[in-house]
Amino acid sequence: MSKSFFSYEEMLGRALERVPKVAERRERFEVPKPEVVNVGNRTILYNFKDIYEALNRDPHHLLRFLSKELATAGSIEGSMVIFQGRFSEAVVSRLVERYVQDYVICPVCRRPDTQLVREGRYFFIKCAACGAKSPIRPM
Ligand SMILES: [Zn+2]
Repeated sequence: MSKSFFSYEEMLGRALERVPKVAERRERFEVPKPEVVNVGNRTILYNFKDIYEALNRDPHHLLRFLSKELATAGSIEGSMVIFQGRFSEAVVSRLVERYVQDYVICPVCRRPDTQLVREGRYFFIKCAACGAKSPIRPM
């Protein structure tokens, strides 16, 4: 019993040491609400940059997810993304929420202080808060 207690303490100590400073800054995790405007047959996501920065994710990874789910092409133009086709703000918001659940939130401790790490063909979500490394759904 005492042995497992001490090893747990050691693990906890190691996990805490590895929590980067950025974890404190992101204590209050807020995802910006997508600002979506339809122009002609296109959809502009104005605050794409705010979103991927808040999520601490690679813009191309987020764009690939959104394009795939919307079944259309999208291109990054400065801080925005322009999609071919018309999509409502509600649709884009739901997809961003799903992205957060699938690719940002740690499935073990439910915290957002994570990174995506790649090993060969597979991506894992690596948590800075609890140290868990969990497989993610392939895109
Ligand atoms: Zn975690």
